[in-house]
Amino acid sequence: MKPAVFQYRKAETTREALEALGTNPGAKVLAGGQSLVPLMNFRLSRPDVLVDINGIEELTLVEKLDQTLAIGALVRHSTLSQHPLIEREVPVLAEAARHIGHWAIRNRGTIGGSAVHADPAAELPAALVALRASVVVGAPRGERTMPADEFFLGYYTTALAQDELVMRFEIPLPARRMGFSEVVRRPGDFALVGAYVEDSDAEAAVTWFGLGAMPERQVVEAWPKGQDERQALLERLAREVQSDDEYKYAMAVNVAERAYLAAQKEG
Ligand SMILES: Cc1cc2nc3c(=O)[nH]c(=O)nc-3n(C[C@H](O)[C@H](O)[C@H](O)COP(=O)(O)OP(=O)(O)OC[C@H]3O[C@@H](n4cnc5c(N)ncnc54)[C@H](O)[C@@H]3O)c2cc1C
Repeated sequence: MKPAVFQYRKAETTREALEALGTNPGAKVLAGGQSLVPLMNFRLSRPDVLVDINGIEELTLVEKLDQTLAIGALVRHSTLSQHPLIEREVPVLAEAARHIGHWAIRNRGTIGGSAVHADPAAELPAALVALRASVVVGAPRGERTMPADEFFLGYYTTALAQDELVMRFEIPLPARRMGFSEVVRRPGDFALVGAYVEDSDAEAAVTWFGLGAMPERQVVEAWPKGQDERQALLERLAREVQSDDEYKYAMAVNVAERAYLAAQKEG
């Protein structure tokens, strides 16, 4: 299939991108194109104007600012998976990025595109919720910042307005002790179910993906040290998330247990 006719605009700055989005109600941002272009080819998405943000340098930055790690919306999955600052400050994010699709996908796909696409089985939206990141969004009206768990609203749905541009994500540091695990049918597939488990001084929590319509983070008082007790708790937590698939609950407990064990290794 071929996409419907569209106009192409290359933005060199965020101001140009916002201007193009603000003056064309049928415009959409083009980042890595790994989700948008297939949808356009199937004509499930028919933007009048594509606003290409790939030339905007400011959106590619990864910076440590005081107690925050700022990651530009255009940072590619492959960069996330091997950036020294991310490896050092938020290793769980680098680990999760290595599980996305194949090399070709990781070389083009971006963290901003993954967040806005909001596939419930995607690794990065859940990572942002698990890490309690903030999403910084630009609009012709000015910038606004919202917590990641308020950004995701449901299946492929976010709080982003049509004329808004995701600029960057801000992750509070120090990152919490966290483990990640997922189950896939074949390497490179989307996860059937995945989990991030936090077991830090600050909090004990689990964030699921692939289980419900969007990433779900649940906080507990503490993780029981005994495996049976812990797995009973994980099962109760998983069942609080509305899933379309009964067998996912059994997988979810195993995945979260592995994520818990991975968190213990983080030291
Ligand atoms: C074969 C295949 C396998 C895949 N496997 C996985 C997987 O295992 N796990 C996984 O998580 N993902 C997977 N993906 C999806 C991949 O991660 C995509 O890269 C990602 O979902 C979208 O990122 P993108 O940069 O390509 O965005 P695009 O496709 O360019 O855009 C996606 C959406 O986000 C919007 N958008 C993009 N950037 C911004 C921004 N800064 N501000 C506002 N709106 C924006 C676009 O307008 C569009 O609506 C796979 C894709 C393919 C084709």
